Amino acid sequence: MGSYLQENKRYIGRAVFDEAQQLLVSNKFRPAFNAIPDTYEIPIPRLYVSATLPPALMDLFIKLAKLPPLPRTKIIRAPTNRLEHSYQLMLLPPKSKRTVQAVVSLLARLVQQELLHIDMGDRGIIFVRTMNMANELLEVLGLCSTIYYSKMEVSEKMESVQAWRDGQTPWMIATTAFIQGVDYPRVQSIIFADLPYGMIDFVQGAGRGGRTCSPTSIYLVANQDSGLMESDSEAFVKCYKPMNCWKNNQRLCRRYHISECMDGDIQTCHSLKDAVKCDICCPDSIYTRLGKQALSGDDGLLKHQVWSNLLLITMA
Ligand SMILES: [Zn+2]
Repeated sequence: MGSYLQENKRYIGRAVFDEAQQLLVSNKFRPAFNAIPDTYEIPIPRLYVSATLPPALMDLFIKLAKLPPLPRTKIIRAPTNRLEHSYQLMLLPPKSKRTVQAVVSLLARLVQQELLHIDMGDRGIIFVRTMNMANELLEVLGLCSTIYYSKMEVSEKMESVQAWRDGQTPWMIATTAFIQGVDYPRVQSIIFADLPYGMIDFVQGAGRGGRTCSPTSIYLVANQDSGLMESDSEAFVKCYKPMNCWKNNQRLCRRYHISECMDGDIQTCHSLKDAVKCDICCPDSIYTRLGKQALSGDDGLLKHQVWSNLLLITMA
């Protein structure tokens, strides 16, 4: 990349870097970013684009991107609030006999039955932290899900995405490898199985849902005592710690820590006109009721109904 820019600089009017937050959160992309010469070596205009760059991390970003200090580097920022998202937190009590996988599996079936119109194109995504967790959930959810992680062959990934887009498998179980570039318009429910690696990953993953602006449920299912490992690093304090705060919060609107971290401007379901309410602001919404039902393990008549639905989908 660096040598390409160097050799072709006279022909390049502007360099645009999409998903620029990768510089902060991805070890995989950082070496490629580091190989790009700074603006003194190749003085062409650069545009970095991201929907998830917290203001508190801008100094760190400018340093890592080797950009000129403020105000020479200009920042254009818009609020990142997603009004259509209904944030829901579900915590398993310590020593619970149920696992995160079991709760997520039941929740996915309930959501599929109550909220998703598969025949009209609705889909769901379950984000997991590891490949092992993805495989475990695939086994539990079976026919209604498919899987995506970075170590899969390209052809397997393509097959998986196609099966999900076609509706053969309405749930995609994926690691963060699936967190960017998903442009499917009708992702109506997203479930995080365990805490994502920081607020940027959480907001980025949640952002795959609600592209039609219709209400979208964003669930996070985790053990009550889980948390991201403490550290003194700037990235931890300004991005990972807010994720721990979000999980530990029991009384503030779920949008509070998200907007504080991502925009530096606190907003809530009540301060934002037309926002779909979170589980704290509206504890008896359909989203919250399904979450509580999954947490309690009450599957009622679900299995028969969901398997009937699956049969219809398979036959169609
Ligand atoms: Zn709220």
